[in-house]
Amino acid sequence: MVTLSDEEKAYISSKIRSVVDFPKPGIIFKDITTLLNDQEAFSFLMNHLAKRYEKSDFEFVIGIESRGFIFGAALAALLGRAFVPIRKPKKLPYTTISEKYALEYGIDEIEIHIDAFSTAKQNPPKVLLIDDIIATGGTASAAVKLLQKINVECVEACFLINLKSLKGDEEIAKTTPIYSILEVF
Ligand code: AMP
Repeated sequence: MVTLSDEEKAYISSKIRSVVDFPKPGIIFKDITTLLNDQEAFSFLMNHLAKRYEKSDFEFVIGIESRGFIFGAALAALLGRAFVPIRKPKKLPYTTISEKYALEYGIDEIEIHIDAFSTAKQNPPKVLLIDDIIATGGTASAAVKLLQKINVECVEACFLINLKSLKGDEEIAKTTPIYSILEVF
């Protein structure tokens, strides 16, 4: 499948802003709004993803709240596939199925609508999962488990950035193949 050259990766990387000590001391926040602001860079990125997945056999793109919605919805429209959001608790209005997962302190939860795949032609439905960043990998792993619970097959989990030192990719790789455009150490 299509990947980017080192020059192309450097180009995308140059459009992402690092904000030190946000949202708390010690965190280097990867701010993708600077990439979205740049017409050429945003469309270069989305065209790359469209090319990579144009022949892939999935009907749905699943975006994880909230930045996964931006890339996921744009990609779904480019590919002519459907889009499904996975959201934080109590945001989706209809009946939901949820998955809890551990944080450093405490637990979190994600939800999906029970009928999100009622239009699927495949059995089981196949999906591409997308989010902006792998940090601990907890959210994406929980998303794949949530999909497995309702008999949905994740063909790949796609990310813009993999924060490699946190080893979240190892956690996600236990449940699905991964494609991350940029690796940050
Ligand atoms: P995780 O479950 O730890 O892999 O991270 C879940 C979400 O937190 C990702 O979808 C990111 O949007 C966000 N996130 C975590 N770390 C960062 C960071 N350093 N910069 C920007 N977003 C982050």
